Amino acid sequence: MMPFANLIRSEIADLEAYTPILPLDVLAARLGLPIEQLVKLDANENPYGPSPRTVQALADLATKAGPTGQLAMAIYPDPNQTRLRAALSSYVGQPEERILAGAGADELIDLVLRLFIAPGDGVIDCPPTFGMYKFDTGVNGGRLIPVPRRADFSLDIPAIEAAARSGAKVLFLTNPNNPTGNLTPLEDIEHLLKLPLIVVVDEAYIEFASQHGAASVCDWVPRYENLVVLRTFSKWAGLAGMRVGYGIFPEWMIAQLWKIKQPYNISLGAETAAIAALEDREYLLGNVARIVAERERLLACLRNLPFLEPHASASNFILCRVTRGNARELKLMLERLGILVRYYHTPLLQDYIRVSVGTPAQTDTLIHALETW
Ligand SMILES: *Cc1c(COP(=O)(O)O)cnc(C)c1O
Repeated sequence: MMPFANLIRSEIADLEAYTPILPLDVLAARLGLPIEQLVKLDANENPYGPSPRTVQALADLATKAGPTGQLAMAIYPDPNQTRLRAALSSYVGQPEERILAGAGADELIDLVLRLFIAPGDGVIDCPPTFGMYKFDTGVNGGRLIPVPRRADFSLDIPAIEAAARSGAKVLFLTNPNNPTGNLTPLEDIEHLLKLPLIVVVDEAYIEFASQHGAASVCDWVPRYENLVVLRTFSKWAGLAGMRVGYGIFPEWMIAQLWKIKQPYNISLGAETAAIAALEDREYLLGNVARIVAERERLLACLRNLPFLEPHASASNFILCRVTRGNARELKLMLERLGILVRYYHTPLLQDYIRVSVGTPAQTDTLIHALETW
């Protein structure tokens, strides 16, 4: 046999394999529990799901006519994302010319890195944080420069500045941060925007943060030529399964992104679901308010447990340090009961679990289970 594996790009061959999560039906079968009984608090999905308007729009799409007797779904979707970008423009208050949608914010993280990162170029992230920055940096052959957060999970600004001077091209900031739930003060973001690199502010959870007085930096994009803001429908709009995110970009950058975007990255189903969600934003923001209220109740319940140290959160999840016993065992104990929480196999987070905010009934189930630990 020819050693065809030698033909693989060396950056990819050297990457660690990504461990995907188990599909829910497989996990349910393995646990011997019916799937409806699982309490899924491990991926920050919305417990109230999508808007009824989205459900109806998708049902209508199943039979919607396209040209000459075909169904609409038989035809390629709009590569310019015209209707979706118009709807997004009214939601974020920025012109369509600055907006581009992706198959999840995840696709846009990759797209930004593809635009800037050649093998060996530096990318800064601030762990503990969202794992896709590291993942996509690896896929693009970039060199990840992790600048760990301080003990209170705030950014280490001098260390970021030092890393930026070492020649990094892109900096990822998550606001509020996942999995720690804290906000970065706007003054810090403003300060970091003076660095000679691209600053990507990932606002995947910003809709859950307004009660903390947090403001989006969307409307700063016209002022800073190096600012990118990423958003998603996965969390606040209950559409994680449909894969729709978007970004607000400087005009010089978006012109280049259009050149490298996959033409049909937003499927007709995703476009339809997202537009209907934006038309029903009052309803969805009502659910966000319920989740925020439940977050505060969950925090109070978790604080009553002597072996957990939960961190206040401006998001839809709560990070907890396990102060007695082993965090991984706690996660496995909950899993045997059908309650799924997030555990990280990383040194920075080995003593932590992250719990997504669910419905009040899910909180009660979780707390009862924890009380038996
Ligand atoms: C969930 C999440 C995303 C991913 O969003 P998708 O639109 O589902 O790809 C992006 N950033 C952060 C910080 C997240 O937690």
